[in-house]
Amino acid sequence: MPQGKPAGMPCVQLTDDLRCALFGRPERPAVCVRLRPEPAMCGGNREQALAWLAALEAATGR
Ligand code: SF4
Repeated sequence: MPQGKPAGMPCVQLTDDLRCALFGRPERPAVCVRLRPEPAMCGGNREQALAWLAALEAATGR
């Protein structure tokens, strides 16, 4: 996504089974490679993780 990922839109590299299509490949963005998940980021389930992501997107205006 050359212009960045708009808020609320899944990454175009996310597969139907919610995996990264670029995982382990050199084309995977550096920011994705460097990201180290933390328990607060992931929460206890998918809904909590998406709420965390939505809060980050709202806080950064992206
Ligand atoms: S790790 Fe990066 S490239 Fe892969 S699906 Fe997630 S945001 Fe997209």
